[in-house]
Amino acid sequence: MRILISNDDGVTAPGLAALHAALADYAECVVIAPDQDKSGASSSLTLDRPLHPQRLANGFISLNGTPTDCVHLGLNALFEPVPEMVVAGINLGANLGDDVLYSGTVAAALEGRFLQLPAFAFSLLSRQPDNLPTAAYFARKLVAAHAELNLPPRCVLNVNIPNLPLERIRGVQLTRLGHRARAAAPIKVVNPRGKEGYWISVAGDAEDGGPGTDFHAVMQGYVSITPLQLDRTFPEAFSGLEGWLEGLL
Ligand code: MN
Repeated sequence: MRILISNDDGVTAPGLAALHAALADYAECVVIAPDQDKSGASSSLTLDRPLHPQRLANGFISLNGTPTDCVHLGLNALFEPVPEMVVAGINLGANLGDDVLYSGTVAAALEGRFLQLPAFAFSLLSRQPDNLPTAAYFARKLVAAHAELNLPPRCVLNVNIPNLPLERIRGVQLTRLGHRARAAAPIKVVNPRGKEGYWISVAGDAEDGGPGTDFHAVMQGYVSITPLQLDRTFPEAFSGLEGWLEGLL
């Protein structure tokens, strides 16, 4: 099997190397990732300039683009035969609830949705790499068990791993996305020449983080697996809109 590995933390990120090391003796792996940290890039495509893949000494390909650019090029231009599965990560930082809307890690996996095999996104709940071996262990275990999966097409598995050593992980739970409260206000800054600007601040806390959610699972020490699909249609809103339209027309 051929696996395309990507991430959003950038081609030199330790989580990418850890993911590659975990899968390298299981499948033929190709690695293509952004040349800089593109966390928060979501599913953006670069349309205003050409993309230039560059092969690094370790064999990874660095791209002056987004995670989605990387997977898009990887599946549609660069690799022959075409990889059969996309695995993204290991992200340093959670991708829970609303995070999946902004996440470049999840976006990289989503760009693999056209393939027959499910795509995986792996995130560790820490900005520090100390427990990457825990996440790498579950990445290997889950990807290697993909043949026993029976999933609908275009399914992406979003996996979050608690920031714990392996022996303290309590198990694996199937979850739904929770929701975050609104993010903290952007931070105003002034550069040395007096120009004002803003830093986007950190994500909000879990607002809907009860049992069954991804937030709850990781807080209890469980690896969280949430199956994702692209379709964001809101079926419960149809009835309200139908009545509204009747009144309008
Ligand atoms: Mn990231």
